[in-house]
Amino acid sequence: MIRRRVTVLGSTGSVGCSTLDLMAQAEAGGSGAFEVEALTGGANIARLAEQARRWKPRIAVTADPARLQELRDALAGTGVEAAAGQGAIVEAASRPVDWVMAAIVGAAGLRSAWAAASTGATLALANKESLVCCGPALIERVRRSGGRLIPVDSEHSAIFQVFPHDAPGQVEKLILTASGGPFRTVAYEAMGAITPEQAVAHPNWSMGAKISVDSATMANKGLEMIEAAYLFDMPADRIDVVVHPESIIHSLVEYVDGSTLAQMGPPDMKTPIACALAWPDRIAWAAPKLDLAALGRLTFEAPDEARFPALKLARQALQVGGSAPIVFNAANEVAALAFLDRRLGFLNIAAVVADTLSRVTTSGVESGSENACDSALAVDAEARRIAESIVLGHAAAA
Ligand code: NAD
Ligand code: MG
Repeated sequence: MIRRRVTVLGSTGSVGCSTLDLMAQAEAGGSGAFEVEALTGGANIARLAEQARRWKPRIAVTADPARLQELRDALAGTGVEAAAGQGAIVEAASRPVDWVMAAIVGAAGLRSAWAAASTGATLALANKESLVCCGPALIERVRRSGGRLIPVDSEHSAIFQVFPHDAPGQVEKLILTASGGPFRTVAYEAMGAITPEQAVAHPNWSMGAKISVDSATMANKGLEMIEAAYLFDMPADRIDVVVHPESIIHSLVEYVDGSTLAQMGPPDMKTPIACALAWPDRIAWAAPKLDLAALGRLTFEAPDEARFPALKLARQALQVGGSAPIVFNAANEVAALAFLDRRLGFLNIAAVVADTLSRVTTSGVESGSENACDSALAVDAEARRIAESIVLGHAAAA
């Protein structure tokens, strides 16, 4: 049976809730036992308090200092300490535990992932943006602390499960699968009119709003290409993307001898979370099972980089290197949120990213340096400022 003392950062989000649900299922089925050190959330105090009542963590933290009293009131009589603000989230992430789930969305998750990376805990990393901004330094920090980084993103969990960790030289290339998102077959001329409601309705996966928009623009696959390059130490020209609308094959590793290994399963984030929670063991839960005969066939097509330019921009950012991936991530985050706020059209998301990339000069972020997180956040802030001004320009022109 798996026994773990755990912290869940971003526990009130899509991945966070799935993590706690899976822990409850593993406990009920007798394959796991968990003690919770800390839970952190954003503005959804009711959900955070409900989770804290169920799991009795030592501390529950909201990102919003203005909601601290509300959280205290909701936790009255439970013995759970309440705290608020980014400093309190970082403090919670720094506490010694066996396992930390980093599931805050966006670059906002970087400081806490960075803090958790030095504790020696196993870091289950869903927050892909922190890998994109600080990948080599973050990976090195986990290694030096004696911890282990396990990717939670379904594609990277797939590669992680079929990758020859002791003989990486056997790998020819990585193949990331992409669902293609809700607009895979929509003509370019119709894409300008896409609304936030249409963009967050993903055909296969149920996810938070920002990653759903990223999936619709395929910026998500771009972020994942950068994530894969850092996690598996692979150059951009040895990472392919193939569109696979059924989302059954989660990614593949091609070996030098022509053999290609894939990891498969129904599209449910609880499977990669379960893998990260128990690795190298496995826990049983009520997982949906594959029925290949019922599926009948799996289909594949090349991505269309003319309709989904974010993919090409991410590859370029990875090839330029230095802080270009941080700029890609920051501009994309600003543009995706502006689109969700109806301040930017769908097709202008990639335009904002391209413009920002051409305007911010990129330097290197030192791998393994204690300052890598601060330097990455400085580039992130500068890129955000420029991206916001470009969004304003688009709004004025509309
Ligand atoms: P979500 O929006 O559902 O949840 C985000 C969580 O972060 C919530 O708990 C929220 O309260 C918290 N949060 C938001 N802003 C914050 C801030 N400024 N400070 C502190 N906490 C903050 O997002 P999600 O879909 O669960 O995604 C979480 C991460 O996992 C993202 O990086 C995403 O790319 C990655 N991911 C998600 C999925 C998925 O299926 N949802 C799949 C792969 C990877
Ligand atoms: Mg993914």
